[in-house]
Amino acid sequence: MYQFNQIPSKAQIQKQIRRIVFGKEVYCPVCKTRRVYKTQERYRCRKCRIRFSLLSHTWLSNMKLPLQQFWLVLWCWTIQIPVKQGVKMTKLSELTVRHWYEEFRSHIPENEDILEQFVQLDEAYFGGRKGRALFLGKQVGSRKLAYQILSHTNPNREHTWKFLHEYVAPDTVLNTDGAAIYKEINQWWPVYHNRDIHKKFEFTHTSEIEGMFGVLRTFIRRMYHHVTVAKLPSVVREFCFRFSHAEMLDSPYEYLLITLRLVPTR
Ligand SMILES: [Zn+2]
Repeated sequence: MYQFNQIPSKAQIQKQIRRIVFGKEVYCPVCKTRRVYKTQERYRCRKCRIRFSLLSHTWLSNMKLPLQQFWLVLWCWTIQIPVKQGVKMTKLSELTVRHWYEEFRSHIPENEDILEQFVQLDEAYFGGRKGRALFLGKQVGSRKLAYQILSHTNPNREHTWKFLHEYVAPDTVLNTDGAAIYKEINQWWPVYHNRDIHKKFEFTHTSEIEGMFGVLRTFIRRMYHHVTVAKLPSVVREFCFRFSHAEMLDSPYEYLLITLRLVPTR
């Protein structure tokens, strides 16, 4: 069933997961002692007697797929195999593939970049009248992005201010289009603001950010076909993370390295 060279053996996967979660030597996730022993697929602590597995104290504790199949669906997601094609490759149902893609998205770390120097900011709308407005900012000439999703499609200057306050450093040169929500925004947050009022200048001042919206829409269509407003936040987060930190999604190993941790226990 697993004809893909990219999928390691079960033992190799276990070894990689063990290294990511525990480092050199397995220890008890509850009392931290290294006095543990292995029984078949699981471990047992000699001190506090709990049983655990490599994944039992991580966000993958409820993962029921065989390891190689799990690795395959994760591999498909990391290299941006569209859902439909992922179904064919993994032999899982579309529901299951969508579920796992969603899980993978939702465990991507939150982006905490602050944009500075030269920034382009624009907004786009998703999901029609009852949809969402998305602010997206890009530091010009870099791979730094920041975004904010509103619960409606009626942004005003206060929303713009909130975005700037949270994601844009003071004294930044800010380029926006001529929309009213950006009007005199430099009186709300200390930026040097260039606002394109004439159509002919728009391309020069906001071309990078408008390009990003195009790439985002293409990404959604290609990878997921469509996205509901409920799933928009995690899809946008995935998109931005892929753009800013492509190297962290090079392989299932790289992805698990940044997302898989022992969850603190009581
Ligand atoms: Zn223990």
